[in-house]
Amino acid sequence: MKVKINQEKCISCGSCPSLAPEVFDFNDEGVAEVIKQDVPKELEEAVKDAIEFCPTQAIYEEK
Ligand code: SF4
Repeated sequence: MKVKINQEKCISCGSCPSLAPEVFDFNDEGVAEVIKQDVPKELEEAVKDAIEFCPTQAIYEEK
């Protein structure tokens, strides 16, 4: 799967970097960014959780 963040929606809650630190990190502005766009199989569950739990629905799977 591929994952993206709509950074205009991110409120920097910290959920996604804590759920999947290999995939999400904060940039210099304190906004979450994707650091690994092609999500390896073993991280897909964590990324799906991050999508589910993002309070602003900023994270989405790119089909
Ligand atoms: S879970 Fe959503 S709002 Fe929270 S840091 Fe990640 S993208 Fe931003």
